[in-house]
Amino acid sequence: MGQRPQDADARRAVPPVICYPNETLPAVDIPLYLAALEGATLVSSHLAAPRDATHFHVKAGQFFRISCVDGPQVGDLNLWNVHDLSERFYSGKTRALHGTHVSEGERLWSSFPYLRPMATIVQDSLAWYGMDAFGGSVHDVIGTRCDPYTGMLLSGDTYHYCCHSNITRALADATGMSLHEAEPHVHDVLNVFMCTGFTRDTGQYFMKASPVRAGDTLVMLAEIDLLGVLSACPGGDCSSEHSSDVAQCYPLQVDVLEPAAGALDGWQSPAPNAYDRTHGR
Ligand SMILES: [Zn+2]
Repeated sequence: MGQRPQDADARRAVPPVICYPNETLPAVDIPLYLAALEGATLVSSHLAAPRDATHFHVKAGQFFRISCVDGPQVGDLNLWNVHDLSERFYSGKTRALHGTHVSEGERLWSSFPYLRPMATIVQDSLAWYGMDAFGGSVHDVIGTRCDPYTGMLLSGDTYHYCCHSNITRALADATGMSLHEAEPHVHDVLNVFMCTGFTRDTGQYFMKASPVRAGDTLVMLAEIDLLGVLSACPGGDCSSEHSSDVAQCYPLQVDVLEPAAGALDGWQSPAPNAYDRTHGR
């Protein structure tokens, strides 16, 4: 450990600067989205069984609503541009732009070189939760996804129903790809309904029992044509452990909703990022 300098306290007292001030992000017309949601009609429903995943298609300008329909349950969400799977949800940049957890008015951004909104959160029935005394909050973009490789690394165990594997199977089913073809497309998730944070003393990633209850929903507008996969995490409400069959698990539902004709007039599906990709050459 290096020697503590004379001015250690002064250096620690320097106030932080927000890395990405986000006031210049394109504005989100939430009142327009909410009005369109009001008159929207059901297109399709999909059920992610406990410890399994479901896939769904949402067209640009349609909504998708993720619902807790039974006991408390968290979900792991992956999103792709249905026309080009190389454009997919970018958890890290979403975190850099909006913070560790996302809620109403915030967006799920896509990978480079696209970097555009894939989906916008329109309604979040858990928005009341805010940030608790432990530094925990809901719907994080800090976790990755539970997976069989980390379990093997830490305990030598084999478990096949982690979100990573559930999403791999569902993507293979959705596209006709083999499991080995589908797996590299699986990416870091939005942890829907999960309550997480970092401990203040050791900075470790923690989870705690989700405040979600039957009837809670997270509603998003698809900004581009999407293929989505939602896994009902084997951690259940994530109050104890994941990556095993120990936790009590419940299903999650995804409903796709179509707004009335004209209800989103003035809205446009966003174009890919305008950077010219010459990278200085
Ligand atoms: Zn999981």
